Amino acid sequence: METYPAVFESEEQTAFRDTCRRFAEREIAPRIDEAERTGVYPRELRLKAAEADLLGICTSPEHGGAGAPLIFQCIAVEEFSSVCAGLATGLNSLGLRVLDQEGTSEQKARYLKPANQGKIGSAFAMTEPGAGSDVLAMRTTATREGNGWRIKGNKLYATGAPCSDFMMVAAYTDKKKRRDGVSLFIVDTDAEGVEIHKMDKLGHHAMETGNVFLDCALPADALIGEPGMGMAYIMKLLEGGRITHAARSLGVARGALDLAIEYAKERETFGKTINKYQAIGMKLAQMMTDLRTAHLHVYSAAAKYDAGSPTLLEACMAKLVASEASVSITDQAMRIFAGVGYINDAPIQRFFRDARLYPISEGTNEIQLRTIARLGDII
Ligand SMILES: Cc1cc2nc3c(=O)[nH]c(=O)nc-3n(C[C@H](O)[C@H](O)[C@H](O)COP(=O)(O)OP(=O)(O)OC[C@H]3O[C@@H](n4cnc5c(N)ncnc54)[C@H](O)[C@@H]3O)c2cc1C
Repeated sequence: METYPAVFESEEQTAFRDTCRRFAEREIAPRIDEAERTGVYPRELRLKAAEADLLGICTSPEHGGAGAPLIFQCIAVEEFSSVCAGLATGLNSLGLRVLDQEGTSEQKARYLKPANQGKIGSAFAMTEPGAGSDVLAMRTTATREGNGWRIKGNKLYATGAPCSDFMMVAAYTDKKKRRDGVSLFIVDTDAEGVEIHKMDKLGHHAMETGNVFLDCALPADALIGEPGMGMAYIMKLLEGGRITHAARSLGVARGALDLAIEYAKERETFGKTINKYQAIGMKLAQMMTDLRTAHLHVYSAAAKYDAGSPTLLEACMAKLVASEASVSITDQAMRIFAGVGYINDAPIQRFFRDARLYPISEGTNEIQLRTIARLGDII
């Protein structure tokens, strides 16, 4: 029996899931070992995904996207992440929606279209050493210089920055206005005054993460949308971002569960395969149930989002439930593998390490609970 039959899925969505699964087996799986070992993201993977029509899923067709609902992006992210979350992260172009919705036609032609075609990669840089959950504590500024801008600051943990061609960077254009003083800028990663250092981390070795130093002149048309609207654009993006982030947690949890079930059915102790012991069988049953709970959260949030309804509450809940499920399921899977799972080349420990990121990124789970409490009129 398949451990994870997707529920409430249309025929079109199931066919798309199959396409993503085949792509993951054909193009992602063979690239895992080298990318994990070297920490270098294989840029050609983006081209392969574009050739298979699996990039730019949510951006508009005029600029090389597919213009599909978010649910399709969730399916792709989940399927790719069930094989390798680090590599999958480079194929999720949801962040480009800001350019799609707010960019000028020149910005779309120069950045969005080639990104949708897999020719260039993008990153999103908001977090700073003193500004993670407390985004408005950011110190990066963009001030007028000549006809353009000078952007100065230090951004941390920018996913993909070392292996991308441009970043969308949040900076204060008017600090006194706080939330209404943040703007978004396009910064080329090879521009003079941009320094990107690769960060060493616990998991996601196949994806490069950047510590970014900026003291850089930008042209006037580097501004995305209106000045002072940066936080509004980011908040809009985060709603969908949290749902696709939850889909990634789901994929990682499923990848780990599948490995654990397979192993439990072949590992023998005391003359029996270990799945026959109630202690292991029940653990696996609980993991399957937790996965299903997370699945229902993710896809009901995506469906509501696609129906055009406000979804912040559901997005936070999906992010919370799916990321906690990925941590607990990968942890339980490690116990089932026991000694062999602790050895560095065991695939299960990659899932375990990767999952540790999900309660932190896209807003920590404490911040999700804070938002849920606020939206639920609890505090
Ligand atoms: C591998 C990786 C990739 C990332 N990718 C990106 C990226 O591409 N772009 C980007 O901009 N950022 C990225 N991030 C940053 C990530 O979003 C932040 O790490 C996260 O928002 C938390 O910020 P912080 O680490 O500064 O923790 P802090 O904000 O310092 O929080 C520390 C602890 O305090 C808790 N806490 C803080 N405030 C409150 C509160 N009000 N109530 C209750 N608890 C609270 C937190 O939940 C946490 O437990 C990435 C991070 C990592 C590790």
